[in-house]
Amino acid sequence: MTLSGTMSLETTNRYLSDEALELRAVLRRFIDEQMPRSAAAEWDKANEFPRDVFDQLVGIGVAGLAIPEEYGGLGRDIHATLMVIEELSRRSSAVAIPYIMASCYAGMTVVECASEEQKKRWLPEIAQGRLLFAYGWTEPDVGADLADVRTTVRRDGNELIVNGSKRFCTGAEISDYIYTLATSDPDAPRYHNLSTVLVPSRAEGVTITTIDAMGLKGSGTTDVVFDDVRVPLANLMGGEEAWNRGWSLITGAGLDIEKLEVAAMALGLGAAACADAHAYAQERRQFGVPIVRHQSIAHSLADMRVKLYASRLVLDDAAELANRGVRCGVETSMAKLFVTETCKQIVLDAQTVLGAYGYVKDFDMERYVRDVLLMPIIGGSSAIQRNNIHKWSRPR
Ligand SMILES: Cc1cc2nc3c(=O)[nH]c(=O)nc-3n(C[C@H](O)[C@H](O)[C@H](O)COP(=O)(O)OP(=O)(O)OC[C@H]3O[C@@H](n4cnc5c(N)ncnc54)[C@H](O)[C@@H]3O)c2cc1C
Repeated sequence: MTLSGTMSLETTNRYLSDEALELRAVLRRFIDEQMPRSAAAEWDKANEFPRDVFDQLVGIGVAGLAIPEEYGGLGRDIHATLMVIEELSRRSSAVAIPYIMASCYAGMTVVECASEEQKKRWLPEIAQGRLLFAYGWTEPDVGADLADVRTTVRRDGNELIVNGSKRFCTGAEISDYIYTLATSDPDAPRYHNLSTVLVPSRAEGVTITTIDAMGLKGSGTTDVVFDDVRVPLANLMGGEEAWNRGWSLITGAGLDIEKLEVAAMALGLGAAACADAHAYAQERRQFGVPIVRHQSIAHSLADMRVKLYASRLVLDDAAELANRGVRCGVETSMAKLFVTETCKQIVLDAQTVLGAYGYVKDFDMERYVRDVLLMPIIGGSSAIQRNNIHKWSRPR
């Protein structure tokens, strides 16, 4: 069962260009027509990536939003990219995550981290939405302390040999390449001993198995094992001069934007939950009146709107800094922390408005809850964001 009615609860990113607003209208029509709630519920239940729908989505011109025109993209528009993530996340993470894998993990990260030769090689295809990249940072024994990765890479002539394992790798099974952070020099000092390799996901020696995660269904959460995987030297991210420089590459401007991607997903989930709670509160009657007439429900809905509004302002402000190319580690950490924690609260409050129906799988609210609980964990947990904010904004 799904809820009818759309809500005029919109808050809009004021930085969106006229073109981005037009694109949003096209995208919303696409979502209504090609991604109905019933289909999204099926993809979630079956843990299925609807590749045909994704292929149609990239056809409306959303894949190249984060890529400069000189490489075949539409210009580097962070606001428009986050808008697409938010809109898709409202309806289905089975499409939102692959979009992030194409537009951000592939597009933005290659723009930020690759050599000129690699940009020319990959970006035109990425801008068409034809390549999906997965992030292989986390390992079984390595979570927040990523610089401690145990996966190794060594050079053998014009090839790289990768050994080790990655955990919680989102979308590895549907991806074309896995960014693999690996130790490239065990004797070099911490942070100067790592390199990032783009391992083709179907290379010999790569084994991918599914982890049964609670949410984020569709793209799949996976374990990846590398057993003597041979990769061309040309797949060393940043080129040969980036050997042992993997850490500085992945913690550059791209990381700032990754935090905003997660915040945009959380905002989409918060907005969807808020809209469903409003609709439900007007339809559901108890004690002879719609429950929205009970003051505690009306106040809860009002609080959700305030939190949603504040979340948007914080996210958009940090996105504007990133869009201008300003380093904004503190602001993006603040946005990631504030928006994901606030939207988690919004969704849980919205679930309360639906009472028992917020707890059953026939209602989309149940998915919003499962998905939003992950947002403060991935892309650097809330504790890590607090550490960063404290560390980076201390008075000198
Ligand atoms: C569904 C899903 C999808 C994911 N997708 C990806 C992906 O695509 N690619 C990828 O590489 N990873 C992915 N991850 C992994 C995710 O990014 C990590 O789970 C996250 O970075 C935290 O690592 P951890 O869970 O191992 O926690 P740990 O690092 O073991 O931390 C455990 C707890 O201790 C806290 N903690 C740790 N260190 C500190 C500290 N210094 N100060 C204060 N508190 C601290 C943490 O906040 C947390 O509460 C995914 C995870 C899930 C569940």
